[in-house]
Amino acid sequence: RNILIILGFSSVIAVIALIAVGLTQNKPLPENVKYGIVLDAGSSHTTLYIYEWPAEKENDTGVVNQIEECQVQGPGISKYAQKLDEIGTYLTDCMEKARKVIPKSRHQETPVYLGATAGMRLLSAENERLADNVLAKVKQSLDSYPFNFQGARIITGTEEGAYGWITINYLLGKFIKKLRWLNLMPNENDSQETYGALDLGGASTQITFVPQNQTIESPQNALYFRLYGKDYSVYTHSFLCYGKDQALLQKLAKDIRGTDGILRDPCFNRGYNRVINVSELRDSPCTRKFETTLPFQPLTIQGTGNFQQCQQSIFKLFNTSYCPYSHCSFNNIFLPPLHGQFGAFSAYYYVMKFLNLTSEEPPSQEKVIDVVQEFCSRSWEELKIHFGEVKEKYLSEYCFSGAYIISLLQRGYHFTPESWKNIHFMGKIRSSDVGWTLGYMLNLTNMIPAEQPLSAPLSHA
Ligand code: AMP
Repeated sequence: RNILIILGFSSVIAVIALIAVGLTQNKPLPENVKYGIVLDAGSSHTTLYIYEWPAEKENDTGVVNQIEECQVQGPGISKYAQKLDEIGTYLTDCMEKARKVIPKSRHQETPVYLGATAGMRLLSAENERLADNVLAKVKQSLDSYPFNFQGARIITGTEEGAYGWITINYLLGKFIKKLRWLNLMPNENDSQETYGALDLGGASTQITFVPQNQTIESPQNALYFRLYGKDYSVYTHSFLCYGKDQALLQKLAKDIRGTDGILRDPCFNRGYNRVINVSELRDSPCTRKFETTLPFQPLTIQGTGNFQQCQQSIFKLFNTSYCPYSHCSFNNIFLPPLHGQFGAFSAYYYVMKFLNLTSEEPPSQEKVIDVVQEFCSRSWEELKIHFGEVKEKYLSEYCFSGAYIISLLQRGYHFTPESWKNIHFMGKIRSSDVGWTLGYMLNLTNMIPAEQPLSAPLSHA
């Protein structure tokens, strides 16, 4: 009996030992991780993003994660046209951070891309040479780091729209071919229908989505993609000068006419005063159409805080009197009927987040109007007490920004109370910011294949 017990005991030990050996042998190898850096050189500021993904799964969808975001101190790069010498140190802090975050052994292979958007598009339209000088300095600076610098350029509005659309649908997993049995009871979130992308910057704004019927009447608004084995026919348009900062300049240039240098403005809160250097209006190509002869200097804005009047004033920025197509947004630009769900990000999100409208399910149009209307009616004194920690420039413009977002969506794009329910204000999806940068990198690193990759090994099911 003793021998039996000893035999039994030793076999148990042997089994445990075998399991232990098996476990150590099957321990997954440390993952081979890759990194990529994209700098978003926006009109008002530059942000550096670092992405990470497992090298073995490059062609899968949803495997790239944003692991770091660094806000570059100072304004957007277009503001450096007259102080080129300062560009050398502009990116230092964020690039040094990237050096620390990414393991040294990976530096050489890590691509770096810088894309400049509408701030630089405007500068380039005004003075191409100045824009080239800025980009040359930026390139020189990025070239001095140990990464694999791939270039700095101005991306077009079409690219900005397209890459924003790719990012959001990549992050939502809309490009994955779902198994049929998993799709027996598809719900809204589960559906493979792509989301449209609504992007609001300081100088331009983009709308991008797959229309229901495939006819895109103006070729310049059409994009055709083949992604993961499926064809997409996508509508996009970028409105230069309709980002929220340039839209505000347009509004001021329009309303300043016929005043004596003092503008009583319903889009700013009661009790708020701001003195504006008129050259700010004169220097922007976005205000030209108002042909402002601006004799007085400076301009004083006095807030009156009235949402309805503010909206009426903003509506005038959208010319809807003529449309050469079956449907238009504004300014004679084709827009197919809205279709599907939309993700609204960047400044749409910042403003809605501040107004506490991002926590629940998509807020109704009525709710958003109520909140903005209430916000506009509050005095500046009260806002300062309540939101002392918020940057004064942002705080003073939330009334205008809220009213502008409502006007753009309602008047510009024709969202109705019904279709408004499909707008989801979003900042991040999991750890990644929604915006054009991720889609840009996925495309340039060939991480989105045209055909569905074979998932190995194929099962017998
Ligand atoms: P861009 O620099 O072109 O990407 O534009 C970003 C826009 O978002 C600018 O109008 C900024 O002023 C605005 N913005 C950035 N952060 C905030 C914030 N926290 N609240 C309100 N607006 C913001």
